Amino acid sequence: MTARIIDGKAFAADVRGRVAEQVAALKAEHGITPGLAVVLVGEDPASQVYVRSKGKQTVEAGMASFEHKLPVETPETELLALVDRLNADPAVNGILVQLPLPDHIDEDKVLAAIDPAKDVDGFHISNVGLLATGQKAMVPCTPLGCLMLLRDLHGDLSGMNAVVVGRSNIVGKPMAQLLLRDSCTVTVAHSRTRDLPDVVRRADIVVAAVGRPEMVKGDWIKPGATVIDVGINRLPPEEEGGKGRLVGDVDYASAAEVAGAITPVPGGVGPMTIACLLANTLTATCRANGLPEPEGLTA
Ligand code: NDP
Repeated sequence: MTARIIDGKAFAADVRGRVAEQVAALKAEHGITPGLAVVLVGEDPASQVYVRSKGKQTVEAGMASFEHKLPVETPETELLALVDRLNADPAVNGILVQLPLPDHIDEDKVLAAIDPAKDVDGFHISNVGLLATGQKAMVPCTPLGCLMLLRDLHGDLSGMNAVVVGRSNIVGKPMAQLLLRDSCTVTVAHSRTRDLPDVVRRADIVVAAVGRPEMVKGDWIKPGATVIDVGINRLPPEEEGGKGRLVGDVDYASAAEVAGAITPVPGGVGPMTIACLLANTLTATCRANGLPEPEGLTA
């Protein structure tokens, strides 16, 4: 079998288009322009790239983009004061503090300071709790993107066996919660899991969020299963044949021979993350104004 390739790039463009349409309608019918504030502390090159493309895509969707770039030595109190101002600013519907933060700043404290209603990353403890208890939450963007791809492919996910490899707060755990909410039978695997290949072999849906290049092999995959590869790993340039290329956590070549459908890296889950950030900003704006939630763009 050769797997169907899930085109996350095209799907993300579709999501962004749907967001832009609904943003235009919000403006025309209610005079509301959603606003997203992104805060970057320091000059981490990868974070700078992310923040730039978030700002660009926010503007392209017709939203207001507010970028706050602070020097690496910014004291925690100053960052918390900025978060407070953004919480109080009616033009700001979504707040994203780019992680990682410099070592002298307590990440948990900063995330806890964000108004949960504006927490478009879905990392605030209130949103984690709301998601876990099946209530209306802001859902972390990457798992939301994976869920959208899975729903688009399968429609109803109920009864499917899903294995999530990785238990981080930003991907693995919220992904497991979302799949559980869609009535999958969910197994969460991690570095202490015994017989990982056997565990993965039971899955109709495999979500790999590990951070280890090409770890999940084709012979771990049940024939016909759907494979969602969240991993983004750059191979070292000196590696033979590697040339610094990007690879996922799944060994794509062998997995694509067995799976029913698979996301490539790049061009799979990656582009969905920012698209879902825009979707979350629109959702936050609708909720803040007592308007109906945007259709097909929430969990
Ligand atoms: P973390 O490092 O926070 O978590 C990795 C998880 O993988 C941990 O739970 C860890 O287990 C588990 N793990 C590590 N080694 C193994 C192993 N040998 N066998 C089984 N499990 C293992 O990573 P993130 O969740 O933040 O990110 C995962 C990947 O997804 C990365 O490649 C990252 O770059 C990518 N990513 C992509 C995004 C996108 O937009 N597409 C967004 C966010 C992340 P344990 O808990 O036991 O240590």
